[in-house]
Amino acid sequence: MCFTRSLNQQELSAAMKMLELYMGWRPNNPPEVAQYGGLEGFPFDRTNKSGRSYTEDLNMKLLNHLAFCLARGTPGHVPAVVFTDMDRTHLHIALNSSPDSIDRQFSHELFQTLSTLSPDHNISYQDVLEKLRGHGLQNLKSRMWKVSKSLIDKKDVDKHSRLLQALLKRIQPGNTGSKLYSGRVNNSKIPEWHILKDEDDFKGIDGSSVSEILKHMLITTFNWAKSCTQLSEVQVPEAKELKRTSMIAHVLSGTSLLKEALADSDAWLENARTTFARRLRKMGECWDGIQFVVDWAQGVQAQNRKIEHSWVMDSGLELNADSFSLGPDPKALLKDLLGGKALDEATLDTIFKGWSKRAGAMVAPKVHAEIRLILDLSSKKPDPGLHVIGCSKRSCLACFVWIEVYNEINGTHWMTAGSHSKPYAAWGIPAQSPDVAKEVNHRIVVLLDQFLGIEKIVQVLEPPASDDDNSSPGAAAVQDATGSR
Ligand SMILES: [Zn+2]
Repeated sequence: MCFTRSLNQQELSAAMKMLELYMGWRPNNPPEVAQYGGLEGFPFDRTNKSGRSYTEDLNMKLLNHLAFCLARGTPGHVPAVVFTDMDRTHLHIALNSSPDSIDRQFSHELFQTLSTLSPDHNISYQDVLEKLRGHGLQNLKSRMWKVSKSLIDKKDVDKHSRLLQALLKRIQPGNTGSKLYSGRVNNSKIPEWHILKDEDDFKGIDGSSVSEILKHMLITTFNWAKSCTQLSEVQVPEAKELKRTSMIAHVLSGTSLLKEALADSDAWLENARTTFARRLRKMGECWDGIQFVVDWAQGVQAQNRKIEHSWVMDSGLELNADSFSLGPDPKALLKDLLGGKALDEATLDTIFKGWSKRAGAMVAPKVHAEIRLILDLSSKKPDPGLHVIGCSKRSCLACFVWIEVYNEINGTHWMTAGSHSKPYAAWGIPAQSPDVAKEVNHRIVVLLDQFLGIEKIVQVLEPPASDDDNSSPGAAAVQDATGSR
């Protein structure tokens, strides 16, 4: 099918909102397997890993952790970071909006701290963690909350105990996997044990038994997760305790206990295990992420260099529209976008049920941070080796498509750590690079058309489970006005 008409921002936003509804209202098959199986190349690469060299991979990891350090965790506050020199000492940073005085002050203090670290790694880690706890408290809260939400489900009250029992069963000596969970403690079984063993609550544990240590870690984690009943009430522990909690999260998420499929378990349990492991890993970033950053900063210091940073200047950034509502008639717009194609009315009615409630909501488009970085650096001609962008979250659907098109047209190789494939109505397309914009519009409409081609929607179910519930397709309506993602 050929779509020749170019979209304006308002039409693009409506198209994105429609995609969001299609994706959210499709029958709830396990994600990644069958959910979008009918669409070629979709969902987009969740990690982008196959296209990265070893060095790019290391840089990506470091930049993602640096973006994590700069993130406040409030809606829409998503930093993107690149190195502008091959020595990895100068960072260029963007947000989804212009940085305010708090961002500028914090980045100044953070890089100051990182430039004057103590030679004692432990003290340095603690210093950086304290700093982060102040600036990114909301970020830490939401990471703890997401671990909790992966275990607690009001509609499924047994979830917490079912998963705990399944995991505990796995570490019983004599059961499958006993080789992994018994025997002497070594670094591959419990990587951080040399630090954890000195922590108070591990003192009574048999430090030679892997299964005892894992059992204790598991129960400790399930206990704190159970105590988080609401995001607003999540208590982020003081730095010392936070260190221990995130270190345990990091260790647990990396062990085969959580990484390998449970024997004889059903799809529900497997889904619960993988979600829990993924969220625990993000919680563990407080430990391994900061360690990674501290290692890098100490390396820079050892060369008598200083870490420098700059913020993207947004003055040249133009949007095609300020704010607007999505309009009352999605069906008419959809037919127009798809060149008058005949569409199944019943399907459309199901998908657009509730549209009128959203139609009046204002959408204030914002250009996302990774695009701001690319546009800002395009005029400065960075070294071609520098094309890895770190973000505190994976890129959204439209950013992924925009970067792909931008690379094709300009012969560049910009990449982020992959995409979570979610559409946002408030995704702003910049007026710069109109040829990129035209092709992005085209690909979004093609995607929309493809979604219409897959099986009819026969029932109304919950939106798909998501890594980031605040920005999941089903919940995004309330965020449009702020341009969150
Ligand atoms: Zn984006």
